[in-house]
Amino acid sequence: MNYYSLNKKAPSVSFKDAVIKGIAPDKGLYFPESITPLTHEFFSIIDSLSNHEIAYTAIKQFVGDDIPASKLKDIIAAVLDFDFPVVPIEENVATLELFHGPTMAFKDVGARFMAQCLGYFSQGNNSEVTVLVATSGDTGGAVANGFLGVKGVNVVILYPSGKVSDIQEKQLTTLGKNITALEVNGTFDDCQAMVKKAFLDSDLLKNMQLTSANSINVARWLPQLFYFLFAYKQSIAKGKEIIFSIPSGNFGNICAGIMAQQLGMPVHHFIAATNVNDVVPHFMETGNYKPKPSTATISNAMDVGDPSNFIRIQHIYKNNLESIRKNVSSYSFTDEETKVAMKKLHKEHNYVADPHGAVGYLGLKKYQEKHPDTYGIFLETAHPVKFLDVVEETINQKLGIPAQIEKVMDKEKKSIKISTYQELKEYLLR
Ligand SMILES: *Cc1c(COP(=O)(O)O)cnc(C)c1O
Repeated sequence: MNYYSLNKKAPSVSFKDAVIKGIAPDKGLYFPESITPLTHEFFSIIDSLSNHEIAYTAIKQFVGDDIPASKLKDIIAAVLDFDFPVVPIEENVATLELFHGPTMAFKDVGARFMAQCLGYFSQGNNSEVTVLVATSGDTGGAVANGFLGVKGVNVVILYPSGKVSDIQEKQLTTLGKNITALEVNGTFDDCQAMVKKAFLDSDLLKNMQLTSANSINVARWLPQLFYFLFAYKQSIAKGKEIIFSIPSGNFGNICAGIMAQQLGMPVHHFIAATNVNDVVPHFMETGNYKPKPSTATISNAMDVGDPSNFIRIQHIYKNNLESIRKNVSSYSFTDEETKVAMKKLHKEHNYVADPHGAVGYLGLKKYQEKHPDTYGIFLETAHPVKFLDVVEETINQKLGIPAQIEKVMDKEKKSIKISTYQELKEYLLR
């Protein structure tokens, strides 16, 4: 399978090169040259297939010949070694829990898949690949964990000192091996600016193969389509039209859901639920795409002012706003509304949602006001314990700490403190 740049000013590349490069030389996102729908039979017998079989059937066309079938199956088995349960909440409302992985964030699957692919591609290469990421919290932990111990790949994570939660910091700084945490004296935006500068620094590029690990990378983005197939497998017995509500920040997850639909999965509608960072809801209403600086919220993994994957969604719908509107609705919610939803889910349904999942729930309920005859699934993208303070305060109850988290809390933090770009550069060239 080849991938072309959405900016159309760079040559098409193989899956392998798209993964290694991350972004095209013309700064465009890569997109697969063709999408071949899966058979009707696949969807009619999906509830008899294992998650591994479903994932392999869905992803193999996007990988093509770059990874042999047996290796791809091994990668899938290593990536998908935990559950993705659909938990009923109300009549016609359920949640797909994506937080049962090693760092309890849905980014585990994409991060692991990308890590395994890069690890495979760097076999037999003498030079190592360095993955450089800036994180405001969740991404870093999933990336660090996914790449831990992968040969030929070094990971350098920048995070803002004092601005991530204790749990998140431990997840970033206690792994060791090929993972290094750089603790930046500054904000997340400072970290991000340093990373961007590094990708343009010819001294660095001459000396090392640098790549990023965010959801613009096709190997992080595409495997997220598995979630929607796993949810469908657990829900076809409902006999109603299925809709998905996805709490969205960079719009990678929802775009992967739309890819599952392109593969032929029967989905009636998608809802992109956001916090007050409402560039996309605003666009859907007015047709005007106006990026703006992000606003801090309690669902901070979605504090994005210019969602990088939305361009892929526009591309799928040939930039036709009416076609997007037919298949996707988008709503934004305030922190106050999010907290009310968390309280309601807890009181009335005995369900503890994290702030991101609660935004997804709100989006679903809003759409169902006008479309009550649907079966709705909202995605729960992080375990509530990842947002401990706000969840405990909102539902007025202490949470138990899961074993995965307990394990890292006792480990010793190791980070290297830096303040300037020069220090980052010196570290990378050491
Ligand atoms: C990253 C993230 C999101 C947003 O996903 P996108 O693919 O960027 O839209 C939502 N919830 C949590 C917990 C996240 O970490």
